[in-house]
Order: sequence, then structure tokens, then C-alpha cells
Amino acid sequence: MNILDTTHDQFVDAFRRRYGKGSHISTPVYRHVMKTGKTAFHELAAFAGLSGLAGQLETDLVLSTGRLVKRVSDGNVVKWVTRLTDDLDIESVVIPMFRRHTLCVSSQVGCRMGCRFCRTGKMGLLRSLTAAEIVGQVFAARHQLGFDIRNVVFMGMGEPLDNLDHVIQAIRVLTDQRGLDVARRYITVSTVGLTAGIDRLARIDGAPVNLAVSLNAPTDDIRTRLMPVNRSIPMAVLQASLLGYPLARKSALFMEYVLIQGINDRQEHARALARYLAPMTVKLNLIPFNPAPGCEWQPPSADAYERFHAWLMAENVFVRRRAEKGGRIMAACGQLGGKNKGKSSTNP
Ligand code: SF4
Repeated sequence: MNILDTTHDQFVDAFRRRYGKGSHISTPVYRHVMKTGKTAFHELAAFAGLSGLAGQLETDLVLSTGRLVKRVSDGNVVKWVTRLTDDLDIESVVIPMFRRHTLCVSSQVGCRMGCRFCRTGKMGLLRSLTAAEIVGQVFAARHQLGFDIRNVVFMGMGEPLDNLDHVIQAIRVLTDQRGLDVARRYITVSTVGLTAGIDRLARIDGAPVNLAVSLNAPTDDIRTRLMPVNRSIPMAVLQASLLGYPLARKSALFMEYVLIQGINDRQEHARALARYLAPMTVKLNLIPFNPAPGCEWQPPSADAYERFHAWLMAENVFVRRRAEKGGRIMAACGQLGGKNKGKSSTNP
């Protein structure tokens, strides 16, 4: 039984079917595992006189979806690689935020969206992750690596809305208060703008999660050049979908704009971007492009970056500078992936 796949209520049901025991046993088990990462059930009061069941559970419960095979750091940013049970690798990144941390999780091995500035996109899609494999990254960060994770952002390898069933189940498991208890307001799903997925995520039960959109361009011409998805979902269609996305109180849509020298960095681009964003409640993250080896494009100079930032401010865009963290260990935006070479690409 893979506990990382289930919410508390689903676990209680499965436990009753399998062991014939009710929530007086299964609830303490779920809490204990999810909150401590441990499986020493003999210690739990609920198992008094049930040492046989405690032993059986310790054998039956699956708590891991892979093996941690590599860990690298750049300052406080930590990237690690998990080798999944079918030998594919995924990457996860912990970014320090004062005392608590943000964890960037992968949702697929590779990605089929083909964004031209992205290293993961060059891999193609090998497969989508299960909910347990997504939750497993948070579980490992907290209980194996010892990080105090508060924020979870779906900005690692893959397009989360291309794997929405498993992403939604992972969100339900992560936010279960009897388990990992991540607050919905601290979860952000990042997308290239798959509108069918955005519309579905908008209707997820309970409070909405934050939505981040990888926009990167002020016009359809430029966006299509950078992101093939824009051919089938142009910016006007994306905007209509975003206007229907529910926002938590005092919240906003997050937009990512990777600034690339000579591509999307002119003043007319800043003006067009401001016009596009104006009808929406948006916080824009302005990110200097972080090229992977062999990439044809260059990052903006520090002056060009500051200039573009100032142009957006002058257009009344809520824009935040976002310095790339983790660039030296290929943990920055668009740099994850690169392993799994030679493995064939399959669709989910
Ligand atoms: S930026 Fe995101 S959606 Fe685009 S190819 Fe990379 S991982 Fe996929």
C-alpha cells in the first residue's frame, strides 16, 4: 500500500478493506507516517496488544518512490536527483526563504511542451509522475533531507497541467491537515497556459491554489517563437481563461517573464506586455534568462534588465525582480533535466 498516494480518508478506507481495522488504528498510522516519516508503529498507543499488525504494516507500507542518487548545492539552494523505480531520474530543488523553505517539485519526467529556452523541453516527455511520486518529493525533502518546507511550487520538470489528474490528487494529499498539511495558499502550479487544465484547476474542491503562468512574451509572434504551445492557445484565449481563475483574498495571478537579450527586451515589448496584463490582477516576476550550455540565446546585461524593469514600473505593472538562484548547479528556471538520455519518449 503506497501511503503517499492517499489522503487520510482514502487511507482509512483502504486500511479497513485490507486489515479489517477502523480509524482508531489507521488515523494514528497516517498521522505518524506523514508527520514524522517514521514507521515504528510498535511505539504507538493504538498498537498496544497488536504487535503482529504493527510488524505487518511496517513491511506492507510503501514510503518511497525512488532513491536519492545525487545532491548538489549552490549557496543555500539544494538540488537533488531521485531515481524512480523504473530507473528514470527526476530533479527537485529547495530554495531558502528566510527560516522556512520553498520546494520546487517535478510533475513529469521530461516535458512535451518544447519551450525553446528550456532544458527539460529538449528531453521530450518520457512519462508523467504518479501522485505518490510528486508527494514523495515533499516527503523526502521534509523527512529524509530535513528541510522545513512551507511552499510547494510545481515548477520543476514537466508541465503540471499535462498531468492534471495526478497533480490534483497530489494537491489533495499534500494539503490534508491530518498528513503533510501544506496550506493551499502556499501551493503554486505553474503552466505554459493549457487553458483546459486552468479551467479544471479553477473548479478544484476547496480553496484555490496559486496559479503561475510562464508568459515570456508580449505578443503572439514572439511567444510562438519561444513557446510552441502558443500556436494552439494564443494569448487572447489564455487571457480569457485567466480572467476566470478564482483568486484567494489579496492574491494575484503570478506571471513569469524570462528576459532574453534581443528577443523580448525592447521598450515596445514592455508597453505591449503592460497592455496585455492590464485587465488581470497580476504579479509579474522578471527573470533574467539563464542559458544552458549550447543555448543560442543570451541573458540580458544588468543594465538592460534594470531598464526593462523600469519601463514596466512606469507602465504601472506590479513587477518583482527575481534573481536566478541555483544557476551554477543547473537548478534555475528552465535548467532542470538532462539525464535520462537514450530513453524513449512516450506520451502519458
Ligand atoms: S518551460 Fe516548463 S512547460 Fe516549457 S518545456 Fe520547460 S518544463 Fe516544459
